[in-house]
Amino acid sequence: MPTTASPALIEALERAVGAAHVVHAPEDLIAYEYDATIDRARPDAVVFPSTAEEVAAVVRAANEFDVPIVPRGSGTGLSGGAVPILGGIVVALTRMNRIIEVDAPNRVAVVQPGVINLQLQETLAPLGLTWAPDPSSQRICTVGGNVANNSGGPHTLAHGSTVNHVLGLEVVLADGRIVRLGGRVLDAPGIDLRGLLVGSEGTLGIVTQATIRLVPIAPAVRTMLAIFDTVDDACTAVSAIIRNGVIPVALEMLDQEIIRIVEPRIHAGYPLDAGAVLLIEVEGLADGVAVESAAVIEACRASGARDVRSAETREERDRLWEGRKAGIGAIGAAAPAFYLLDGVVPRTKLPDVMRGVLDLSARYGFRCANIFHAGDGNLHPNIMFDPQEEGATQRVLDLGGEIMRLCVDAGGAITGEHGIGLEKRSYMEWVFAAPDLDAMGRIRTAFGSAERLNPCKMLPGGHGCASGHAQELAGHLAQPGVYL
Ligand SMILES: Cc1cc2nc3c(=O)[nH]c(=O)nc-3n(C[C@H](O)[C@H](O)[C@H](O)COP(=O)(O)OP(=O)(O)OC[C@H]3O[C@@H](n4cnc5c(N)ncnc54)[C@H](O)[C@@H]3O)c2cc1C
Repeated sequence: MPTTASPALIEALERAVGAAHVVHAPEDLIAYEYDATIDRARPDAVVFPSTAEEVAAVVRAANEFDVPIVPRGSGTGLSGGAVPILGGIVVALTRMNRIIEVDAPNRVAVVQPGVINLQLQETLAPLGLTWAPDPSSQRICTVGGNVANNSGGPHTLAHGSTVNHVLGLEVVLADGRIVRLGGRVLDAPGIDLRGLLVGSEGTLGIVTQATIRLVPIAPAVRTMLAIFDTVDDACTAVSAIIRNGVIPVALEMLDQEIIRIVEPRIHAGYPLDAGAVLLIEVEGLADGVAVESAAVIEACRASGARDVRSAETREERDRLWEGRKAGIGAIGAAAPAFYLLDGVVPRTKLPDVMRGVLDLSARYGFRCANIFHAGDGNLHPNIMFDPQEEGATQRVLDLGGEIMRLCVDAGGAITGEHGIGLEKRSYMEWVFAAPDLDAMGRIRTAFGSAERLNPCKMLPGGHGCASGHAQELAGHLAQPGVYL
């Protein structure tokens, strides 16, 4: 099959990582056209390096042939971050999947970027330790992707997102140099470039190693399911719980639409007639857990909960969580396609904003299932649609834009954890003034990465980039496909 990359570039890449670890046949490249959202674009080649030195050699080849580079973990990103919108080389870090060191007494681990989040958790669990970031995609997403997107998860309400759990990074810069940022302690001296890299979505450097902070698994935990007749009451309970002085480690909401999708498939124990449920977890010392659970139950009842159940066994707890963790995947079986949105609002605005989301979806004529990190005010409306229906995809994008606007107008922002990627570049001007965006652009210039590393991501503008999500997609949505 012919390739779109020049033979000379392919040869250079094969020299960098070995011929067996370069993919360039069009039929193989299809698998690297997309992440877990709507956008898609084909790379010229995909490479699978096994060391930082190999990554650096790929970067030097990209510079020589003047092609863009897009880092990639497992491709579960939900903002088009790993989509090679201008073509070029996708650097897939999945072969760099070693847990290099676990220093349990100092609660530090050193890992390669391709380590799968859940594999890391399973390695740490027998030591009584965990890495706090636990995206619902943890069965497949990588530590590198978590770092690049500053990912959150159900348990980051109490622990904070990925940036709070990364101590140091080894990074390949756009000129091929390998640098080490941060260290093994919480407050490394010097300018905090580690903090800058976390959440930079592959636009400043390619992470080739992460030194991460581990936390102990709490001795006691209680998982509760609070059942409400309306979304409004469940939203009110979210603020009431925290007002009662409890910060649960997890405070997740599922509305009726998603319950009716999830329950018949997963049998998590969510009542089919509930308007919404809250999945609430508190942890700590046993006495503290008992006190906090009582406060949670009181807040839920005062907000209109018709029942609050506690998981009595490990199996029951796992089942309740399975419904949450497999929930988004289950939507894939309920609709030809869906568009998963990510916005954040102040917790107290949840009742108003959720009402707005449901009204807007009804006005556009789409079913909308909500499953989200309510404690963080982090919404995830899932708009279900059929991409084969004429005009449906554009209407979904328009609806997505209106929902993001709703979040911004409520004092929130356009992402709570999935990042900006390709998807929301054009919305950045809603939340940042021109000087703010200019400052961010200068950072990219300082790193020398603007044209080379993940172009057209995060910031509006950029050489050869379309100006907005809708325009960006125009060329790519022509092809029918099943979008997540
Ligand atoms: C069902 C489902 C549930 C999800 N739940 C959550 C959730 O609860 N919380 C949450 O925050 N997210 C969630 N996500 C989104 C996604 O899983 C996270 O953003 C995750 O961290 C992405 O990891 P990945 O390995 O798939 O990265 P990819 O999608 O491959 O890449 C994501 C971004 O990181 C960059 N990147 C990847 N590796 C590197 C590297 N080594 N160096 C530099 N840049 C790199 C890419 O260029 C891209 O911009 C969910 C996704 C799905 C499909």
